[in-house]
Amino acid sequence: MAGARRPGRNFLFVPGPTNIPERILRAMHAPMEDHRSPDFPKLTLPLYEDLKKVFQTKDGQVFIFPASGTGAWEASLTNTRSPGDKMLAARFGQFSHLWIELARRHGLDVIVQEEEWGTGASPERIEEALRADKNHEIKGVMVVHNETATGVTSDVAAVRRAIDAAKHPALLYVDGVSSIASIDFRMDEWGVDLAITGSQKGLMLPAGLGIACVSQKAMAETKNATCTKAYFDFADHARTNPSGYFPYTPALPLLYGLREALNVLFEEGLDNVFARHRYLASGTRAAVEAWGLKLCAKDPKWHSDTVSAIMVPEGFNGADVIDRAYRRYNLALGAGLSQVAGKLFRIGHLGDLNELMLLGAIAGAEMSMRDVGIEVEPGAGIAAAQEYFRGAQGLGERRLAAE
Ligand code: PLP
Repeated sequence: MAGARRPGRNFLFVPGPTNIPERILRAMHAPMEDHRSPDFPKLTLPLYEDLKKVFQTKDGQVFIFPASGTGAWEASLTNTRSPGDKMLAARFGQFSHLWIELARRHGLDVIVQEEEWGTGASPERIEEALRADKNHEIKGVMVVHNETATGVTSDVAAVRRAIDAAKHPALLYVDGVSSIASIDFRMDEWGVDLAITGSQKGLMLPAGLGIACVSQKAMAETKNATCTKAYFDFADHARTNPSGYFPYTPALPLLYGLREALNVLFEEGLDNVFARHRYLASGTRAAVEAWGLKLCAKDPKWHSDTVSAIMVPEGFNGADVIDRAYRRYNLALGAGLSQVAGKLFRIGHLGDLNELMLLGAIAGAEMSMRDVGIEVEPGAGIAAAQEYFRGAQGLGERRLAAE
């Protein structure tokens, strides 16, 4: 239909999938090859070693599945648990909710600690529940590191301290789908037993890979786990991966992309990647404050550096802002999910991103809010973010200093 084209580029600011750097796109644009050839392990074996650097682990074992984060959730539980096993999980957003539901569908008996949406996992309550579990019936604690639905980051290290303080043997399961490769995540130092992620967020790839990193303690549990698994069975991968192969046809283009994504991350340096995410998130938060709006995250200690969930004022619908942004300004913002549907919109600020890209999204959010009647001061958000970037001497200055 004439006139239907949206000129210019789409501004993708949902909290995943994220923008894919050109060089990663190009790396995936490759002819197919024999995944059982003698050359194939040259691609695959370094991927495992390099992913361990991203998870910050020495002894963890990495598994790569053609899947998304949800598949990795399933793999983490079915490979290490048996139906009827008790699990302890904090629920404070749509993704912690969905992981719990998935565990229940596999027959796990999940004890849910409800936390207010906008807060995160409570190490104190977790410690209390574990202390009360004298017979050590609870087999695992499930924590979503970064709750993408509410823009809340939980303190995983504190959860590990809580488990240790209770002298409890439960394994620590962590969803790092919207944190790993964007927010500091330390598998070994934090004593995480099973961490999972997907390819479409911090790794700057299309969706299509579910990645699990498994501690040796969790690997030992796989021997007794009786949950049904077939496609996601760690054992099949553990047999074939060490020689560089997969038990079935891997997602070849995504593996080429993953190689390039890891190169991109290591060239910038993981610490710089984490600092950049903190810096861009802080600029976004300055804009929100200047608009006179509130984040869903109730306290700065919960602030997420990958996604800001911004509450719209009473009487307005966040979905209208998102609709306006998409249709009028070619800007994709994240929706409010479930309990917070309509109450907020989200700006995803993760992946391959710099100040000017983010300022585009902030401007678009500002214009869309005004269009639907939310009277923020024009330019207030962009000005506040700019001032933050100027004062923080961030990205650009560091890059110039390094040149
Ligand atoms: N966990 C978190 C924290 C997420 O943000 C998501 C998706 O956004 C998922 C799990 C589910 O991952 P996927 O959509 O890749 O299956």
